[in-house]
Formats: sequence, structure tokens, C-alpha cells
Amino acid sequence: MDAEIIVVGSGPSGALTAALLAEAGARVLVLEEGPWLRVEDTEPFSAGEMAAKYRHAGASVALGRPGVAYAEARCVGGGSEINSGLYHRTPGEMLRAWSDMQGVPECDEGALAPHFEFVEAALSVGHTADGVSVASRLLAQGATALGWQAMAVPRWVRTDAQGRSRKESMTRTFVPRLLAAGAGLRPSCRVRRLGRGEGCWELDCEEGDPRSPRAVTLRARDVFLCAGAIQTPALLQRSRLHPAAGASLRMHASAKITARFEEVVQDTGGGVPVHQVKEFAPRISLGCSISSPAHLHVALAAWPQGHRLVQENGPSMATYYAMVRQGNGSVRTLPGLRDPIVRFDVGRQGLRDLHEGLVRLAQCLQAAGAQELYPSATPLRTIGAHDSPEEVARLLAPCALQLMTIHLMGSCPMAGDARRGVTDPYGAVWGQPRLWVNDASLLPQAPGVNPQGTVMAFARRNVLHYLEHDRA
Ligand SMILES: Cc1cc2nc3c(=O)[nH]c(=O)nc-3n(C[C@H](O)[C@H](O)[C@H](O)COP(=O)(O)OP(=O)(O)OC[C@H]3O[C@@H](n4cnc5c(N)ncnc54)[C@H](O)[C@@H]3O)c2cc1C
Repeated sequence: MDAEIIVVGSGPSGALTAALLAEAGARVLVLEEGPWLRVEDTEPFSAGEMAAKYRHAGASVALGRPGVAYAEARCVGGGSEINSGLYHRTPGEMLRAWSDMQGVPECDEGALAPHFEFVEAALSVGHTADGVSVASRLLAQGATALGWQAMAVPRWVRTDAQGRSRKESMTRTFVPRLLAAGAGLRPSCRVRRLGRGEGCWELDCEEGDPRSPRAVTLRARDVFLCAGAIQTPALLQRSRLHPAAGASLRMHASAKITARFEEVVQDTGGGVPVHQVKEFAPRISLGCSISSPAHLHVALAAWPQGHRLVQENGPSMATYYAMVRQGNGSVRTLPGLRDPIVRFDVGRQGLRDLHEGLVRLAQCLQAAGAQELYPSATPLRTIGAHDSPEEVARLLAPCALQLMTIHLMGSCPMAGDARRGVTDPYGAVWGQPRLWVNDASLLPQAPGVNPQGTVMAFARRNVLHYLEHDRA
């Protein structure tokens, strides 16, 4: 055996899982496909960061009408290394729905509270004014002017003695913890498939430079799959371990509007926006996106005048989003293809919610003083400062929306009944002894809030259950 327990993936779920198991005395090995880089090795939210830490440099697409561009991390620390660090607990109504729909016990606010508290303490979740741009504040101001509920979302950040804040990603928190507790970590090690050996799991891996990798087989008694909502079901399918893995996929599909204001709104050079409008949640959430010059260029790429607009007005521009939780998709592997085929259908209700979200977002930005709005929809149509919501709705009605997401989940849902889920309520894969899923794949639905807090709270709940009931 190379380890008692192998954890596949070192994102928020994998790093936390490995650290807690190692701290409980288990011999743990973490296998991570991506490279091991520090947060400071790349400029946050830059093209360089995308090339180094994202799968396919951030360019992945879920097929559908409309298709959805999505991003996945591929590095030690997973999504926590590249994300904005916005933290929410799971809304109580979501937890009740999951408990009723899937028959999942210990799935209410009370039962999960200790796990959320643990995550909040470990990642120093709190509010910081550091780096919050005018662009972010304007969203909340527009909402307040309309009488809508808005909030500044807390983040996982630690403030140093000089008052500077730094994001508490996994390479700064649970990766050092798992190493200190004696766990091993092999970066640039991709698990291709896993199968049964004698009294153990055998994992076929590719290690080293992806252009000329070495084949390695590693063995462990127990395996936790924490490779994220696309790669975990793909691994289960390639290994023929569960026919329903990847039969569902949930996400927060988002459509965007880029706004031009009269004043400078990027006073912090495009720092992390934290404001969100929750008046229409959980159906629709509105928020402010990262709006560095590179991000503005991408957001306006379809507009003939986009390049000039950013060059002339970049500091007065920002991109905002409307995000919904409707729709369902799938992840399917095909023989000979390295990457799975991902599909997503946002559905009629999802499309209605997205159109409504864009109209409300336009209203909010107009109330905040926006002069012109550029929605991510074709045919390209500019919204003016005084267009009424009815005019905006009419303008957008025939448009095809360009959708994107950074929140993926729900591809191996947990359930109290083997017919409704891929795993039991604590992540054990139905019909496969000593194999667990413990990542974003488990969530039965899109939670309607930034998901990392939910992913980590369930991961801790499941590890404690394993240590009490299954480890011996
Ligand atoms: C750009 C961006 C911004 C985001 N912003 C926020 C935010 O502000 N707040 C929030 O709550 N959430 C945010 N999210 C979502 C959040 O990051 C994810 O919900 C979270 O990272 C999911 O954790 P995970 O452990 O399930 O998967 P991941 O973080 O995806 O980690 C999976 C890891 O497994 C590795 N892996 C995959 N396949 C294999 C294999 N075969 N072998 C070995 N290793 C493998 C991957 O390389 C990856 O490192 C954001 C996501 C992105 C992409």
C-alpha cells in the first residue's frame, strides 16, 4: 500500500479532507493533477494566472442552446487559488429542500452550524474594506435607491500587521496543515482510472510533464474523490464504477452587463468586488465581477467598439452579472477522449430568470448612475441611461444570451436511497465499498450562493462521519 487513504484532488474539499484525516492519525496521500504554485507566483485575475492555474487556460464550454462557458481550476489548492474568496453559508431553505428531496439526514442549519463555524475559523472569514472598488459599492447604492436588499459578502482573508489583507486559499491553510500532519502530496499527478486490487484500490496515474508523463500505479485501502464536479464523475465513468455518475450537473448560469459610468469606478485597479443584490434570491442574484482591463476586453470582445471603449474609458467601466440556479446538464466520457463532453440546458424557467435578472440588473445600474450598458447578448444592443425596464425587456427579448459560470456542482448527488443518488448521505459511493466522493459533486442542487463554504462544510461533516463509523 502507498497509503491507507488516497485523496484525489487538492481543492477546498480535497485539502480539507486530507488535513482532517491526517490529523486523526491516518496515513494519507493526496494526488493532484495540476502544478504546485504559490498564490504570489501569478498576478491575481491575470491572463498569466489563467494559463498557469486553470484547466485549458479557462476556456471550457458546456454544450447547449445557449452553451455555457465555464472555468475549472487545475493546480494545488484547486478553485480556492483562483477565486474571489466570497463566503456564504448555505441558505436554510436549500438545506431543507435537499433533506426532503434526497432523504439526507444531518442536513439543516443546526446540524451544519459546527462545520460552518470550523471553516470560518480556519479560513478567517470576515469583512475587509481593503481593495473594494467604487464599482462594487455602486451596485449596492443602486439597489438601495430602488429599495432592494443588498449586502457586502464576507471573504476568506487574513489581515496582516500592516493592514493588508491576503486571501486564505488552500495553499495557505489546509495544504500546510495536511503536510504538517504527515500527509504526502504529489502534484502533477493525474489519476486516469481506479480499479479493485487485492484488498485495496489501484489507481492508474500519469505523473510529471503532461506531454511525456510517466505511468504510475498507486494503492490504498480507501479512496476519497475530490476532483471537482466535472472530473470526479468523469473518473467514476472511466473506471466503470457507477452508471449514474455525471447523469446530472448543476451550475449557476450567469449573463453579464458591462456598464460605463461618468466617474472613475476602478479606483482599486479592479480589486475584488464584494457586493451582491439578494432581493430576488435564491432565484436570481446580482453581483459585480472582476473588472480588470483584461476582463473588460473579454466582456466586450463581441462589440466592434469594445477595444476602443476599454482603452478610452476602462477606469470608468465595470462588468456585473445576473446569476440563476435553474437548469440541468451532464458529464459524459467517450473512449479515446481525454476530456469529458459537458452539456447544460438552462431550461425555460432558467432563461426567463436570466432575462428578468438582466432587466433588474440594468435598472439597478441605471439607478447607480450608469451612462451606457452593454449586455452579453446577441444581436448587440446598447441600453441607455433612461431606458425604462419595459424598454429594456423589449430590447433583450429576442436576444440570445451568452452565458458563463464558475460554480459547478451536483454531478454525483448524495441521497438516502441508491436510486436517487450516486452516493449515500455521507459520500460513500453506492455499491463500491471503501470509495467516497467528497467534493462539489455531492450537492443535489445549485445553492443560489457562492458554493465553496457549502462544499467545505459538507466535506467536514462527511470526514467526521467516516472517522466515527468507517475508518476502523
Ligand atoms: C474563477 C472562479 C471564481 C470562483 N469564486 C468563488 C467565490 O468567490 N466563492 C465561492 O464560494 N466559490 C467560488 N468559486 C467556486 C469554488 O472555487 C468551487 O466551488 C470549489 O473550488 C469547489 O471545490 P472542489 O474541491 O469540489 O473542486 P476544485 O476546487 O475544482 O478542486 C478539484 C481539484 O482536483 C484536481 N483534479 C481533477 N481531476 C483530477 C485527477 N484526475 N487526478 C488528480 N487531480 C485531479 C484539479 O486539478 C483541482 O485542483 C469560484 C470558482 C472559479 C473557477
